Amino acid sequence: PQQGATHDPAVWDKIKEHPCYSAEAHHYFARMHVAVAPRCNIKCNYCNRKFDCVNESRPGVVSKRWSPEEAAEKVAVVAARVPQLSVVGVAGPGDAVFDARKTLETFDLIRRRLPDIRLCVSTNGLALPEQVEALKERDVDHLTITINYLDPEVGAEIHPWIVHNRRKWVGREAVRILHERQMEGLERAVAAGMLVKVNSVLIPGINDGAEIAAVNQAVRARGVFLHNVMPLISDPSHGTVFGLEGRRAPTPAELDAAREALGGDGARMMRHCRQCRADAVGMLGADLRDELDLENAAPV
Ligand code: SF4
Ligand code: SF4
Repeated sequence: PQQGATHDPAVWDKIKEHPCYSAEAHHYFARMHVAVAPRCNIKCNYCNRKFDCVNESRPGVVSKRWSPEEAAEKVAVVAARVPQLSVVGVAGPGDAVFDARKTLETFDLIRRRLPDIRLCVSTNGLALPEQVEALKERDVDHLTITINYLDPEVGAEIHPWIVHNRRKWVGREAVRILHERQMEGLERAVAAGMLVKVNSVLIPGINDGAEIAAVNQAVRARGVFLHNVMPLISDPSHGTVFGLEGRRAPTPAELDAAREALGGDGARMMRHCRQCRADAVGMLGADLRDELDLENAAPV
């Protein structure tokens, strides 16, 4: 079968215009990210917080932040000039679901102007269970959760702390809570009819091999649509190796082998992800931000 193959027409309807969910659609449709959500509630050791959330975006990039009003205006400008625009997503620069007030307000403003656009969100999952309903009410039908581990020993090497219920949790306790909330959020989102993509950052020596396979099994069993195994990008100039000092990125061959091992039947592994910026505009891999000059574009 093709990547993300399905025989359900309702599901096909949702994926066929989404460049990230369909390997075919990424040649024809464009997406736009709006960086409206700066706050984050966990610590990933590969993130240094000066830059965008690395769980969905390219490391080492500082996105242009907008208020919900500015974002809705810029989306309208892009929609008027880029007819291929089919999806608008919030992927940071922090966690879009933890910073839900700004994300939801942005979606409401966009919906008023563009009732047919598809909405997309990415998150570390910690705040997800309580927000699934609100996202569903806004017809958000594409959701990405970053899940890097099942085993708390492994998780503690990747995520040293979380903030949950107004309290900071560290170590094993933190990753136990994060894991439970990720699985609960995933289950609720699938039950609500969303198409869920899981991103996993492949970190050689930490979660490669059996751990990534266990994540793949767990998320497939819960109805995930697509699993995107992304490479850790550990160039220190990108500032992404803080707590992972000495860890290197997987080689292209290691990444291919990991994806091959998981996607044995050829289905449901994402291979065309470009780790785009939290303010990306355009086709995957061909950014239009400069061409559109959104900062100076006249309102529509
Ligand atoms: Fe959605 Fe992620 Fe694709 Fe952006 S890159 S449109 S957040 S799946
Ligand atoms: Fe950074 Fe994103 Fe992790 Fe938050 S969830 S620490 S913004 S990579």
